[in-house]
Amino acid sequence: MRRYAATDMVDAVVIGTGAGGAPLLARLAQAGLKVVALEAGPNREPGDHTPDETAAGELYWMDERLSDGAMPQAFGGNNSGTGVGGSTLHWGAFCPRPDARDLRLRSLTGEGVDWPIRHDELIAYIEEVERFIGVSGPADYPWDTARRYPLPPVARNASADAMAAGCAALGIVTTDAPAAVVSRDWQQEGGDLRQACVNCGTCHQGCRNAAKTSMDTTYLPLAVAHGAEIRPGCMATGIERDARGRVTAVVYVRDGIEHRQRCGAVFLCGGGVETPRLLLHLGLANSSGQVGRNFMAHVATQVWGRFDAEMRCNRGYPSSLISEDMLRAEGAGFIGGYLMQSLGVLPMTLATTMARGGRRWGRGLTALMDDYLHLAGIGINGECLPHDDNCLTLANETDAFGLPKARVTFGYNANERAIDAHATDTMIAIWRAAGAHDIMVLPRAAHTIGTCRMGESGDAAVVDPWGRSFDIDNLWICDNSIFPSSLAANPALTIMALSLRTADRFLKGQ
Ligand SMILES: Cc1cc2nc3c(=O)[nH]c(=O)nc-3n(C[C@H](O)[C@H](O)[C@H](O)COP(=O)(O)OP(=O)(O)OC[C@H]3O[C@@H](n4cnc5c(N)ncnc54)[C@H](O)[C@@H]3O)c2cc1C
Ligand code: SF4
Repeated sequence: MRRYAATDMVDAVVIGTGAGGAPLLARLAQAGLKVVALEAGPNREPGDHTPDETAAGELYWMDERLSDGAMPQAFGGNNSGTGVGGSTLHWGAFCPRPDARDLRLRSLTGEGVDWPIRHDELIAYIEEVERFIGVSGPADYPWDTARRYPLPPVARNASADAMAAGCAALGIVTTDAPAAVVSRDWQQEGGDLRQACVNCGTCHQGCRNAAKTSMDTTYLPLAVAHGAEIRPGCMATGIERDARGRVTAVVYVRDGIEHRQRCGAVFLCGGGVETPRLLLHLGLANSSGQVGRNFMAHVATQVWGRFDAEMRCNRGYPSSLISEDMLRAEGAGFIGGYLMQSLGVLPMTLATTMARGGRRWGRGLTALMDDYLHLAGIGINGECLPHDDNCLTLANETDAFGLPKARVTFGYNANERAIDAHATDTMIAIWRAAGAHDIMVLPRAAHTIGTCRMGESGDAAVVDPWGRSFDIDNLWICDNSIFPSSLAANPALTIMALSLRTADRFLKGQ
């Protein structure tokens, strides 16, 4: 890997190597720019991952975050990762595309906000990402007949088969889910051979054979092959500026020692919590007052049930079935909608979700877990609208670097409650039709979205439609934080697409 000295003036420093940081790092390096990525977490090889829920804890961002509001969010393993590759090391790789109507909520319904991006432009970038990372999916996608995926679907797990049967009985359309998992051996452009998925079911603990897309096996090797330097274990704590207010260097801490890297531009890609935390702490890019506002988390309710047959939900790629029928449910009293998917969860994670969402503990919980092999679940990813009262602020407590900890205040508003109620009824009906008994509802929300939204005007947004700060013209943001609204689709594919788009815009200005 090429190395730069701190005294070198690099073209850009990228903070964070997840879905937001990695694709743009590769694009800038491919264009011949000198780029350095700072990553707070360590580097790992796919073979370092172990199918053990306890050991996998090291993939998560475990520094304390304070949770507040009517629905305090669980962080740690539930919500964000760390290390070279970011949250894609342990994500589920379920990757539906965003629906065109979700980008125009305000125009179509009078509520929510519109995205300042055309859907067809975003889809062109998404298709490029899908071709590069290798997405598996059905030959005919029922809700978008023109769509094609580069690879055939991965095998279904038992909860997918049960969901398909339950949905069919109710007239709900399902198909194999789009998954950023290679169903055949895949020679990664710029990287190594990725072996076909072996259906082991431990995607959330990291994929040992690189079948699941993560940034460390896709965009980051490509970036390094074109001259990018990635520095693991480097926590960015400051941004230096000149008299005109332009960024001149990024300050970071490695092994307890402070360093600085001179740069022509900075791309802040630390995710929906760390990006606004750093900006609020430094008092940067916030003339709009929008940094930290509009924190969103998808409505992610799960419904579980006990089946007579063994379901073995530890086996198989978990999210192998999808239904988009509820993206605009008929007669529903809410804006937007939700996607449904099959689940597969290892025992510790399931027990934690049962305790947290289902309020089961003690003998009730252990009795339930005794039946683990017979349990199966389905879940949703539902639209969350931006609200002023859901926000990230700085707490009085500080972390090991002396930075104030994040305090996240979150609660559902009327629209999220209506989606939750509709989805709960629908999933219970599906599970009953599939033959499940002892049905349990586990309320939960997922993902860390919003907090540095993009928009057309610096009065109401932190960054412009390409991710460039309205206040500091060589500071760019690309991660979960710039979403103006959550979309019903899971976020990572959209983040990767935005990352390439942001890089292209930056390169135009070079
Ligand atoms: C359990 C789980 C399952 C998920 N499943 C799916 C799924 O199936 N489909 C889907 O679309 N999405 C899924 N997601 C969400 C998806 O993984 C995230 O939305 C996405 O990866 C976020 O990308 P990001 O670039 O915004 O942030 P991240 O990927 O979190 O990357 C941020 C990186 O920045 C680093 N960083 C932060 N601050 C600093 C700093 N100050 N200095 C240096 N480095 C820093 C972090 O260590 C991290 O590596 C899942 C998430 C979780 C937690
Ligand atoms: S199920 Fe497939 S994608 Fe998931 S960890 Fe196993 S081999 Fe990797």
